[in-house]
Amino acid sequence: NKQVILNDYVTGFPKESDMKITTGSIKLKAPEGSNDTVLLKNLYISCDPYLRLLMSKPDRASVLGSSKPGSPLHGYGVAKVLDSTHPNYKKGDLVWGFTGWEEYSLITSPQVLIKIQHTDVPLSYYTGILGMPGMTAYAGLYEVCAPKKGEYVFVSAASGAVGQLVGQLAKLAGCYVVGSAGSKEKVDLLKNKLGFDDAFNYKEEPDLDAALKRCFPEGIDIYFENVGGKMLDAVLLNMRLCGRIAVCGMISQYNLEKPEGVHNLMLVVGKRIRMQGFAAGDYYHLYPKFLELVIPAIKEGKIVYVEDIAEGLENAPAALVGLFSGRNVGKQLVVVARE
Ligand code: NDP
Repeated sequence: NKQVILNDYVTGFPKESDMKITTGSIKLKAPEGSNDTVLLKNLYISCDPYLRLLMSKPDRASVLGSSKPGSPLHGYGVAKVLDSTHPNYKKGDLVWGFTGWEEYSLITSPQVLIKIQHTDVPLSYYTGILGMPGMTAYAGLYEVCAPKKGEYVFVSAASGAVGQLVGQLAKLAGCYVVGSAGSKEKVDLLKNKLGFDDAFNYKEEPDLDAALKRCFPEGIDIYFENVGGKMLDAVLLNMRLCGRIAVCGMISQYNLEKPEGVHNLMLVVGKRIRMQGFAAGDYYHLYPKFLELVIPAIKEGKIVYVEDIAEGLENAPAALVGLFSGRNVGKQLVVVARE
């Protein structure tokens, strides 16, 4: 059983050498006598920024908990059930949910696995648009911000797993949508493939306030926050009265020993801004409703999804580390096996 193992707790930027690939043995059978165990063959694993937070020492880790040095990483993935003693899962079922960064995983809490009902879309989409990042975009935009037709929406890390869907959902809601991203290629993708009204490369425009003023001469109603730091400060200067900020994540802060301060937070008061953090996991009861919206939209070509696919567990450490330099173009995932 090939596995991606965390060597030690990580400080600063993660490196490939923080992880190693090992091969051990595993009995390809759910243990007899158990009634709650599912043996999975992992097909795709998902590279998500929050995994970096789990790699920190427990005292610095987030409420999400932490990974254990010497053990395989855990995260979202798509898998096939090889064997099961749990009444709800049977051999051959396809699932997405919490699994290990390894070829085969024994899962003893299968409530973290959702059965895949729709297989007429790419299976890898269940690491992205049809999985946790998709629910994040949907919950953060529709539930937290309730966009109205004609509103001005700004999305940071806009070409990524979550951001690209946020922008497209905001367009479906009739909003004017601008995204920021870290390269010309990504900016072109936002404008030409993902249907954003405008986009800018934040790495080439150090004056973020000026970039936002150019894109939003009348200000921003909704900010979908993925990066934090200087971007949040510049956005606060450009928010409109009674604007909403969905705080999804702050990737620019995850590798810092001391997070940067936010200088313009006081504007939240005068501008009556509602700023709300949220976790996708709190909204999974809406998953069926979400699929009803998004699967037809994918099939009709009204929503498109860009993936960045690495082949093989050996390439998983580089794929994960790449999220923090912006190497990924679209949703980063890793193929472990093709069925
Ligand atoms: P992405 O697919 O967007 O990948 C990460 C991207 O972040 C990179 O490609 C890079 O794009 C950008 N980035 C990396 N470092 C920085 C930096 N220092 N400053 C600005 N941008 C940076 O990731 P996801 O879509 O999966 O996640 C986006 C955000 O959503 C993250 O903050 C994540 O933690 C959060 N999240 C929150 C969830 C929740 O339930 N609240 C669930 C899932 C994700 P670029 O080239 O544009 O810089």
